[in-house]
Amino acid sequence: MRAAVLHSPNEPLTIEQIDTPAVLEPHEVRVATAAVGICHSDLHVVDGRVARPMPIVLGHEASGIVTEVGSAVDDVVPGDHVVACFVVFCGECRMCLSGRPAMCQNREATMRASDVEPRLSQGGREVHQWTNIAGFAEEMVLHRNAVTVIDDRMPLDLAAMLGCAVATGVGSARKVAAVAPGDHVVVIGAGGVGLNVCQGAAAAGAATVIALDRSDERLALAAERFGATHVVNTAAVADPAALIRELTDGGADHVFEAVGIPALIGLALDATARGGSVWAVGVFGDTAEIAFPAGQLHSGKGVHGVRAGSLEPQRDLPALVEDYLAGRLELEALAGRRIRLDEINDGIADLVAGVGARTLVVF
Ligand SMILES: [Zn+2]
Ligand SMILES: [Zn+2]
Repeated sequence: MRAAVLHSPNEPLTIEQIDTPAVLEPHEVRVATAAVGICHSDLHVVDGRVARPMPIVLGHEASGIVTEVGSAVDDVVPGDHVVACFVVFCGECRMCLSGRPAMCQNREATMRASDVEPRLSQGGREVHQWTNIAGFAEEMVLHRNAVTVIDDRMPLDLAAMLGCAVATGVGSARKVAAVAPGDHVVVIGAGGVGLNVCQGAAAAGAATVIALDRSDERLALAAERFGATHVVNTAAVADPAALIRELTDGGADHVFEAVGIPALIGLALDATARGGSVWAVGVFGDTAEIAFPAGQLHSGKGVHGVRAGSLEPQRDLPALVEDYLAGRLELEALAGRRIRLDEINDGIADLVAGVGARTLVVF
């Protein structure tokens, strides 16, 4: 099968033939990829901010149709429509058993052992599988807990975005921060994740949802389709935090950083009310450090890490599908260009340039 392979950072991906095992392990499924989103986290590996072994196939928010299941898989069958999500969980560790699969402590249990044929290879040499998904490929060989079966009325191209952008954004607002009716909310970054924080906060009844970005195109989208009540172009405003404090009577209850730039945590704290919370949703580089005045803590403010919106895939993804089918979740406006696998470097260039919301590779 064909896949887009990254051989070293800052190089274009190349479309190559990749081998997958003829025989699945007992807990695996084989999926014909239908669509995959291109996400900032993929970009972090391409630009070297996140170091991973190479060669590697990126792509971690995908959808597809199951073509084969391993001998121990009895709750997924060929023909099932699935979302493949990077929250791959063992189901048996302390975190999984306490309902927190996004914090799974034993992801090794969902991978192949090092002494067997790898899931992806080329001439016998391993090709690494990013986040246990590797969706930039015609076919995915995955642990059963990497997939969630969804209602087959759900369009598969839009379904791909549920696994990362939507789950992380909506989950951060609704589950992690538990935004309440009347809250003042600020979202820094109106990309795939940030727009979904906006719609999650709006659905939770936030009184104010202020989106910040440097792109007027994205800000217009936030206001018109994703529930933002105010937008601020940070390239055009000298002191965005002061403006936010003015709009929110002293600062926001929740500020979400959805970009992954350490300095923005400082801005987020400045925009937060006393006792409020900053939620670090964006992915920072491996070696990034965050500095802010300690006095912010004595104002009762907290800075909290967020992982995958605390997603519980088997419970939350079907619920998001129901929300979409019932008209309660905006997805069409989230999808930008649809491209073919061999155009993937154009899609990555779109992301770098901040064009459109979410470029989808469709198969
Ligand atoms: Zn992602
Ligand atoms: Zn686990």
